[in-house]
Formats: sequence, structure tokens, C-alpha cells
Amino acid sequence: MKLHILGVNGPFPESNGATSGYLLEAEDTLLQFDLGSGVLARLTALMPPESLSALFLTHWHFDHTADLTVLLYRLEAMGQVLQVYAPVDESSAIRKIVSASACFRLTDVAPGDTVSVGSCKVHVGEARHPVPAVGYRVEGEGRTFGFTGDTNTLPSLPEFYRGSSLLLADALFPSENWAESKPHLSAALAAELAVATGAEHLVLTHLNPVFQPRRLLREAQAIHPHVSLASPGSVFDV
Ligand SMILES: [Zn+2]
Ligand SMILES: [Zn+2]
Repeated sequence: MKLHILGVNGPFPESNGATSGYLLEAEDTLLQFDLGSGVLARLTALMPPESLSALFLTHWHFDHTADLTVLLYRLEAMGQVLQVYAPVDESSAIRKIVSASACFRLTDVAPGDTVSVGSCKVHVGEARHPVPAVGYRVEGEGRTFGFTGDTNTLPSLPEFYRGSSLLLADALFPSENWAESKPHLSAALAAELAVATGAEHLVLTHLNPVFQPRRLLREAQAIHPHVSLASPGSVFDV
């Protein structure tokens, strides 16, 4: 499988950046994970967005869903319908728009669910965040892709992401800025999770423009032997 990094920031983009958005390509199956601000334009540069097999949302915060509102106009213009999987969050204004539109087929997911799309099996796992949120583990082509979405530590994470070939993890905080009560992992905790799961390759993401990415990379590299920083336009083999 191939992972195309489209947007890496959160909760707001850096100059010319984009917030959460990743395209996973497996044989004939194209899975988009999150569609934050600036992501739709980058996805459109790769392929027509209506040819996605499905869109999976980790949660409904705007930095993960903002571009759904403009994708709606494109789907209307093309007369197309896109399958969307996401956790239930009744408080989300964007979820109300998506639910009401004939251009989206919205299916609720919860931890423990498994969805088959084309040649891929997508498992839904827990996340710890201020709104309902999930993470995903995808099996395809004999490989495993894990994506934590936005989360802080949880006892179930190591088991859920076990055996990930590539783990894409929330690493927003440098260690000294992290706390148990925060909504995100630190780079060091993301690396500890990658070690616990046996992940071959850790990719750090949800990069807050306030913090130095090089510092996050250094902290994670002290714990895991194969760490990369997510950057828009990069492509990783899973
Ligand atoms: Zn976020
Ligand atoms: Zn969030």
C-alpha cells in the first residue's frame, strides 16, 4: 500500500499548509482519511475526489473535516455520491450538513467495528479526545496501516495497533508541553506506542505550527529506530 500525505497540521495550518488529510492507496482501493482545510485541493491534484472508494473521519473537529463543506459543492456538480464513515457526534455542525446532503452516504462507526472496502479491511479503535473520536487500522496487500487520529494515551492503543507496518500517530506535543489531561499525544509517547505495537515505521503528524517539528523528531528518534515527520506531498510505502 502507499500512503500519500496531503495535510499534516492541526488545529490550524502553517503558511501554505493543510490540516489533517491522508490518502491510502491499495490496488484498486482508494481510502481517504480525514479532509481538513487545504486537503481537497491537494487530493484533487492527485485524482478526482469522487473516485475515492470511501472517506474515513477520525472525528468531526474542523481541522479534520473543514473541506467536506466544499467537497459537497463538487459532488453536487458531478452528480456523485461519496461513502463516509465517521463516529457519531451530535454536536458537530459539519456532521449535520453531511447527514442532510444526498451527496454523502454517512455510516456511523464505533470502536470494535470492521468495515470492508474493496481489497481492504478497516478496523475501528478507540481514541481519547474531548469529542467522540476513533482511530483506524487497515489491512491490505498483506500489510497493516495504523492511524491514531487525535488521541492522548489509552490502555487499548498498543493492542489495537499491534503489528502495524506503518503507524501514523498524533505527536502534537514536545514532552515538556504534554500532560495527562491534554487532547493529544507527545512525540515521545507516539514513539513508545510504536515500540509497544512493533511498528516498523512511525510517522509523526498533527504538527502544530507553534512547535518545532525537528524537536519532535529528535524526541521520537531517541525511542524508535525508524521515525519520519509527515510532510505534505510525501509518499510512504506501508
Ligand atoms: Zn486535530
Ligand atoms: Zn481533534
